[in-house]
Amino acid sequence: MLSVRNLTKAYRSAGEEIAVLRGVNLSVASGERVALTGESGSGKSTLLHLIAGLDRADRGEIRIADTSISDLGDSGLAALRRDRLGLVFQQFNLIPSLNVRDNLAFQSRIAGCHDAAWQSELAERLGLGGLLHRYPEQLSGGQQQRVAIGRALAVRPLLLLADEPTGNLDEATADDVLALTRDLVARTGCSLLMVTHSLRLAGTLDRHINLTAGLIA
Ligand code: ADP
Ligand code: MG
Repeated sequence: MLSVRNLTKAYRSAGEEIAVLRGVNLSVASGERVALTGESGSGKSTLLHLIAGLDRADRGEIRIADTSISDLGDSGLAALRRDRLGLVFQQFNLIPSLNVRDNLAFQSRIAGCHDAAWQSELAERLGLGGLLHRYPEQLSGGQQQRVAIGRALAVRPLLLLADEPTGNLDEATADDVLALTRDLVARTGCSLLMVTHSLRLAGTLDRHINLTAGLIA
């Protein structure tokens, strides 16, 4: 489903080149749920950004299903993100002027695949059924992140990319959100690549990989 081959990425800042990814190889099977750990600054976010097509690699290949993303231009990448990927970040990135129902529907409407029954099921499973008319500012952090996860899964993506999705939540809330995400990903049938600091949570997914010195062992 996801295949990353010999991926390299360096940043240039103040005339200095910093090699972040030095030939990363990674495969995620259809339906597989993978935890990605690594020290702060090891390049986890960089890797997820490259997979999402938000930035370009220096060398190497990323394939999502049958598409090599280096073959896509900016509009192709935007379409890939919209139609086939779910993205969840530490910041919840909800739209403040939309209520929970419309935030949940945001990506699926743009992608032209809104499915009211699936959205209702997601809302119920995420414990959002009674909150559909609230606005983001009226929600707790955990509730906001559950909306962000529901919005991402509403399009039935091939792959959910989550970058420390519970980094802003307290431990008990983080555990709840993580368990829900893991189970909903299984229900959706998509693959999951999730950055987390928690080795305990990493241990509850199908596989755990670590990024060290620009490589996945
Ligand atoms: P992680 O998510 O594992 O904490 P990042 O991928 O955010 O790591 O960053 C990896 C390294 O790349 C860090 O040293 C960071 O300072 C550097 N870096 C990240 N983004 C940029 C950028 N846009 N310009 C320059 N350096 C960057
Ligand atoms: Mg990061």
